[in-house]
Amino acid sequence: MNPEARKPFIAGNWKMNKTVAEARKLALEIKNGTLNESDDVEILICPPFGSLYPVSEVLKGSAVKLGAQNCYWEKNGAFTGEMSPPMIRELGCDYTIVGHSERRSYFRETDEWVSKKARALLDVGVSPIVCVGEVLQDREGGRTNDVVRGQVLGSLDGLTSEDMLRVVLAYEPVWAIGTGKTASPEQAQEVHAFMRNILIDLYGLDVALRVRIQYGGSVKPENVTALMGQPDIDGALVGGASLEAASFLKLVSFKTGGID
Ligand code: PEP
Repeated sequence: MNPEARKPFIAGNWKMNKTVAEARKLALEIKNGTLNESDDVEILICPPFGSLYPVSEVLKGSAVKLGAQNCYWEKNGAFTGEMSPPMIRELGCDYTIVGHSERRSYFRETDEWVSKKARALLDVGVSPIVCVGEVLQDREGGRTNDVVRGQVLGSLDGLTSEDMLRVVLAYEPVWAIGTGKTASPEQAQEVHAFMRNILIDLYGLDVALRVRIQYGGSVKPENVTALMGQPDIDGALVGGASLEAASFLKLVSFKTGGID
């Protein structure tokens, strides 16, 4: 592996949290707290839709990037309540999370939908962060690899090698999301290596070694350094610990131990 080619990538998924005023305040704290951060870590925050524009204003002049949490795949039309990739691009987003387990379970999103969203985002220059991960019954039943393989193949369906260089994958075991139960660094590494092998089969070694795979699931300042120390873990997709500037900033500085 050649980890140098993969810039560490720490992303905060704020989910349905923060008013506009709170979002602006948190974004400002993150902006100010990362001014001296070296550029060898990529930092992303994903506020709710209503705060994207206000937060984009706050982030001006900062290296912190902006992302959305979801999209629809059509450009426009009668799709009440949805946001299209061009609209997301116009708001200043470089990334959009697709296929998060909460969208898959509460909103019945399928791999086919995820692949359509990824395609539509790439077409307007937004990078998708494609989430996959098994539920507890699958892990306990020894089906983790089958489930993850199915989601990776289905969610990336139709994407070319060139596309893949702009895609980020996130392995998020559902049993570890918001539960406080983190996959151990070894458990996570095993699945990340498995995913990279799928990428090798699909796109060849050169591309596979350049795709970043984030880990998500109760990442905290206390465990980030060990997780990031694994050879195939290239970043973190963080829910709970991204909602306070202090903890998110510690995650961003994982290289110096993550925790003060
Ligand atoms: C997530 O929702 O992507 C996530 C990983 O949440 P948490 O960090 O709270 O487990």
